[in-house]
Amino acid sequence: MSLIHLMQNKCPKCHQGQVFSTTNLFSFRPAKMQEECSHCRQNFSKEPGFYWGAMYVSYGLATLEMALAYVLLISIGIDAFDFLNLAVCIALVLVLFPFNFRMARLIWLYLFTNLIES
Ligand SMILES: [Zn+2]
Repeated sequence: MSLIHLMQNKCPKCHQGQVFSTTNLFSFRPAKMQEECSHCRQNFSKEPGFYWGAMYVSYGLATLEMALAYVLLISIGIDAFDFLNLAVCIALVLVLFPFNFRMARLIWLYLFTNLIES
């Protein structure tokens, strides 16, 4: 798995075509995923319900982001059980939702494209 290609929204097989129609992974516009790669015709929708598993990846990403924010807030002196700490962590996950949604699907696609087809 190439992390650079994943972050660039590139096809997991040829690293040329785009998986999502937008190149900005932080965009709040609805994520439109291509049906197949425009370069190598790799199918991005492998089977119905394929991306349900990406929810686990999204959960992991959100948990990691909240943990990092929590540690950062504690390190700058905010009490561990302060309401501000909770509010910042929740706001961070809400703001990063578009990124997490797209990144989780990309990670899931990269995992299974490279595992099954290589
Ligand atoms: Zn491709």
